[in-house]
Amino acid sequence: MQIEKLKEILANNGEPKFRLSQIQKAIYQDGVSAFLEISTISKYLRKLLEKEMKFLSFKVEKILVSKNQNSIKVLLKLSDGNKIETVLLSPMKNKWSVCVSSQVGCALNCVFCATGKGGFQRNLTTEEIADQVLFWKQFIKKNKIKGKISNVVYMGMGEPFLNWKEVKKSLQNLIELNLFGFGARSISVSTAGIPEGILNLAKNFPQVNLAISLHFVRNDLRSRFMPINKIYDLQLLSKSLEEYFKKCNRKVFLEYILIKNINDKISDAEELASFVASFSKKNLLHINLIRGNFTEGKLKPSPFFQIEEFRKYLERKGVSVTVRKSVGEDIQGACGQLAGKVSF
Ligand code: SF4
Repeated sequence: MQIEKLKEILANNGEPKFRLSQIQKAIYQDGVSAFLEISTISKYLRKLLEKEMKFLSFKVEKILVSKNQNSIKVLLKLSDGNKIETVLLSPMKNKWSVCVSSQVGCALNCVFCATGKGGFQRNLTTEEIADQVLFWKQFIKKNKIKGKISNVVYMGMGEPFLNWKEVKKSLQNLIELNLFGFGARSISVSTAGIPEGILNLAKNFPQVNLAISLHFVRNDLRSRFMPINKIYDLQLLSKSLEEYFKKCNRKVFLEYILIKNINDKISDAEELASFVASFSKKNLLHINLIRGNFTEGKLKPSPFFQIEEFRKYLERKGVSVTVRKSVGEDIQGACGQLAGKVSF
């Protein structure tokens, strides 16, 4: 939704100031899907807005629903023909999380991620990011799905901190009471580890959750699978996290994808525990173990028993850890690094 354009049209038509709030309420709180559905404004204005503005900045190309219906993924076609995906996941009954993309493609080229393999195309605009949430709001209403969106996670295609200007504005839109009105604590931003971005988040949105795609705690291994580590290695990442803790003293989530025979041995768990222990605020670090969901190439997910051993080891070492419940595996609906692996 191009909010600035909406304001402009209303001003040019001499509409009173409260008209904007009326329209925004209908769109962001009531979840209408077209200007023609807004009953609180005149028919003339409804038709004018329908003609002059696009409700969403993309068209739906394809929708995939998982067998147990707890994960829905859509492929969206942007106005320039580029495609992105967004996912709606229900890790808990009647609660939905929206996973949004922040870029078309990604420049970071992580070995385990198909988004990276496709290279970087362009940054998404504020509207294109926020509209993914708006789309799901409308989708839930139209399809009479029970529950509502309780979380938004920036874990889809792209590295959010490499598109900070637009990501920042989209975060403002999500939090803004007249728009989406989400609590900052119900939003999470995930990064492969861009120190400047981590500090920007701490400064501008201290209540928004930070997640780090860690996955490896040895520089040689991390650089092999995540080339960004050659620029921002684990020491720089740790330094920026210490700075983050000084500024906001909030829990940080470390994402760790377990890949068979690569980073899933007990010796890896040992190194991970030492990595966590090296922080001054180690109690603020929480490890999310994720079973890899690889569909191509040589990488294989860790066996379930291995993941359990890994988890138990970390727990014994006093590390706060959970195994992330996988949802939507049949549609490869897991967002984050695996989102880009989806082929439609
Ligand atoms: S995992 Fe994330 S940062 Fe790495 S290439 Fe994929 S989208 Fe980019």
